Amino acid sequence: TAARPMLSVRDLNAWYGESHVLHGMSLDVAEGEVVTLLGRNGAGKTTTLKSIIGIISKRTGSITFEGGETIGMSSRAIAKLGIGYVPEERGIFASLSVEENLMLPPQVRPGGMSVDQIFELFPNIKERLNSQGTKLSGGEQQMLSIARILRTGAKFLLLDEPTEGLAPVIIEQIGRTIARLKREGYTIILVEQNFRFAQTVADRHYLVEQGRVVDMIPNDALDQNIDKLHAHLGV
Ligand code: ATP
Repeated sequence: TAARPMLSVRDLNAWYGESHVLHGMSLDVAEGEVVTLLGRNGAGKTTTLKSIIGIISKRTGSITFEGGETIGMSSRAIAKLGIGYVPEERGIFASLSVEENLMLPPQVRPGGMSVDQIFELFPNIKERLNSQGTKLSGGEQQMLSIARILRTGAKFLLLDEPTEGLAPVIIEQIGRTIARLKREGYTIILVEQNFRFAQTVADRHYLVEQGRVVDMIPNDALDQNIDKLHAHLGV
């Protein structure tokens, strides 16, 4: 029998004020998997991540993590379960140094990466430790944003378009980082527009349209489903 998924989303609905954005989103993620959410702008991918971490308060349905219901919980309580969110806008504080940005979030669980482990994973961060947040390149900001979450001890990561706007060589580096985190046992939901990148790191892909999952494609079947992808992603 299949193991119980680590995260299970069932019939999730979510609203921004009166605007109903998620319409019965359901998906599962097993421990150690990298799963992507693929879909057009506005399909509801970011809102799904925000619902999982609990920063969208108006949500209904069920989101269980390691068997426990999280729908009624605050984002702080959800983070303490070991779920880390890296937003698309990266959230680097411009007026703080790299080191201050790195140290900002508290450790929510034991087993967060040490600063030495962070430096080993992201050598650039060590070199830039005393730089101001704004002086970093987009790629360095993305790495810092991921590093900060790894320090907290989160083992389930929600990454929102980490490759957006980055040069191919940096995208490759982020791909290697995701592969390494997977080998170390992290579980990841990745929002992506770039399915060619998604293909290099993920086990499975959920296609999202109008606030729900319309298809699930295993990574090894992605090439046979290019037509479907084009239809859903408009690429
Ligand atoms: P993108 O790649 O553009 O972020 P997405 O698939 O992640 O796309 P969401 O950001 O989840 O899509 O947006 C889903 C819908 O919710 C869109 O119609 C969007 O306009 C709307 N929306 C997003 N954020 C807000 C907000 N803060 N207030 C009101 N509506 C919002």
